Amino acid sequence: MLTSDALNMWTQFLEYIEEKCSSAEFENWIAPIKLAESDSGRTVLHVPNIFVQEYLIDNYKRDLCAFFPSDSHGEPAIDFVIVAPHHAEVVITKPDETTNEKANDDIPQQISLNAFYKFENFIEGPSNQFVKSAAMGVATRPGRSYNPLFIHGGVGLGKTHLLHAIGHEIGKNHKKLRMQCITTEAFINDIVDNLRNKSIDRLKRYYRSLDVLLVDDIQFLQNRLNFEEEFCNTFESLINQNKQIVIASDKPPGQLKLSERMIARMEWGLVANIGVPDLETRVAILQHKAEQKGIRLPSPIAFYIAEHIFNNVRQLEGALNRLSAYTKLMGLEVTEEVVEKSLGELFQCSPNQKVTVDNILRCVSTLFDVSVKDLKKTTRARSVAFPRQVAMYLAKELINDSLMKLASAFGGKTHSTLIHAWKKISGQLEKDETLRRQIQMAKRNLET
Ligand code: ADP
Ligand code: MG
Repeated sequence: MLTSDALNMWTQFLEYIEEKCSSAEFENWIAPIKLAESDSGRTVLHVPNIFVQEYLIDNYKRDLCAFFPSDSHGEPAIDFVIVAPHHAEVVITKPDETTNEKANDDIPQQISLNAFYKFENFIEGPSNQFVKSAAMGVATRPGRSYNPLFIHGGVGLGKTHLLHAIGHEIGKNHKKLRMQCITTEAFINDIVDNLRNKSIDRLKRYYRSLDVLLVDDIQFLQNRLNFEEEFCNTFESLINQNKQIVIASDKPPGQLKLSERMIARMEWGLVANIGVPDLETRVAILQHKAEQKGIRLPSPIAFYIAEHIFNNVRQLEGALNRLSAYTKLMGLEVTEEVVEKSLGELFQCSPNQKVTVDNILRCVSTLFDVSVKDLKKTTRARSVAFPRQVAMYLAKELINDSLMKLASAFGGKTHSTLIHAWKKISGQLEKDETLRRQIQMAKRNLET
């Protein structure tokens, strides 16, 4: 049994660390660590691999000592046990007998890897360091490091890029390995085609004879029950032969609507998250892409773009292409003004810390011609109530703070008033073009 003291200490430690590090870091490094029972008086932690253990000690030794007892050398009195996640729960099925037979090579399988999606073109930053090094580990020693490697993260953050990078690397250094890089949709289409042509067994043999299988966008397997089962069988057959599998997904395994069996298998190896890159990384990505495309991009301009496009690397690239086309067509130099003109509509509103409720009130007061004092009062007259709701809407959109704090900055309103205002204005925005423009204008004013 875990003692409640130990559990409390561990929970407090986790809460403390979560505050200190980025969510990607927490999810990749800290969340997999589990507190285990101990009868030695020392703390026992289960870790999925040695890297996680080293990471914890390297980065948080002082904090560990503050939360947990330390030994006579001043080291945290912690014993680590490496436990591969979910191993015990997974029933291992026998490898398919037919798989040793080499598959028929006339199955038309073309691996088409994007030539640009290589490791050297993948810019590293705190949000993707972990997953990049895991991917490189897999590419160096396929089938012998993390298996499967499960990469997940939002749209346009580099999952496909990394999957292809693994493909390139293995293609270069392990020429003899049979590899297939495929999207889940293509996998499904393959099955459908072969079912129609009555060559499904040959297809199954083909997949099960691979040494490396790279599967993109596994979320498309959701709600496709029959295909899921076929994929799961292929998966097991390969894993049982120590063949490398890498999967990319827009969600972590546990959030996919797939069978428990499938989820357990995907969590079997290493699950790694790609987060949104920070400003410096975005700038480095832009500069790298510009260099590749032969576009001159002065550093302040790269910063300017990266500050305004912040949650999707693909959009960042789109912006660069657009800027390049615009300047070439118009014969212009790249300046901040030109960027604003050509990319303005792509720019996102950031949860900018510099925006304050007072700024918003001032801006709204000019926009609707009411006084700031009235906006803060409780007057219900529509001429004031509506602008006040707009201000609340803007506060919730632009300021990253608790609703309670925001509401009280509006002269002591409650947070449900704020939510009500936000809902109302959001709804109205859908049908009211004038309001949409007013809000756009306010956002622009506030953010520059
Ligand atoms: P996803 O599959 O996650 O939706 P992609 O792998 O297609 O995203 O990446 C979208 C675009 O962003 C690609 O052009 C890719 O090269 C680029 N990209 C994403 N992350 C990086 C990075 N860290 N360094 C360089 N380019 C990146
Ligand atoms: Mg992708």
